[in-house]
Amino acid sequence: MDLKDYIRTVPDFPEPGILFRDITTLLHQPQALRYTIDSLAEQTGSLGADYVVGIESRGFMFGTPLALKLGCGFVPVRKPGKLPAAVFKEEYTLEYGKNALEIHQDAFVVPGRVLVVDDLLATGGTAAAAAQLVERAGGTVVGFGFIIELTFLNGRAKLPEGPSAVALVSY
Ligand code: IMP
Repeated sequence: MDLKDYIRTVPDFPEPGILFRDITTLLHQPQALRYTIDSLAEQTGSLGADYVVGIESRGFMFGTPLALKLGCGFVPVRKPGKLPAAVFKEEYTLEYGKNALEIHQDAFVVPGRVLVVDDLLATGGTAAAAAQLVERAGGTVVGFGFIIELTFLNGRAKLPEGPSAVALVSY
């Protein structure tokens, strides 16, 4: 199955000149959704993760079924102000301006091996910030899983060295 057949490209979203890769068209096709989760599980299963960390919000959509399939717990990394208990916060720079993500300080009840999941790797800032949060909360990042990688932005260079990074399709 070629997942690109199920990913919609929307020009000029969220601003002029951006080609937005839209995974809602993949989510609503049961065979494509199953194939996506199965493929991610196949390519990350050997990492022996104890937890999948999903990045809000599209990382939740793929991270939770992947955790179920791998027999892992799921931990959300969220935008500021959403998690109710004590958090660690990590700020990171975007092309224009700043963003931040948070994790519960007690997210890893038993510290363990962590697979970080998001829909798309662009410049790598988001995934790198999530990895920092995991380490601050006592987890060990063993891998990253993405559906899509925008290779021309070289986001892999921003990820920590060591953990493997898997992307199912690239543009
Ligand atoms: P990065 O921090 O530059 O790697 O951007 C990655 C984050 O931006 C991820 O959380 C993605 O969901 C989001 N993102 C950036 N571009 C796209 C896109 O074309 N489609 C869907 N999500 C995108």
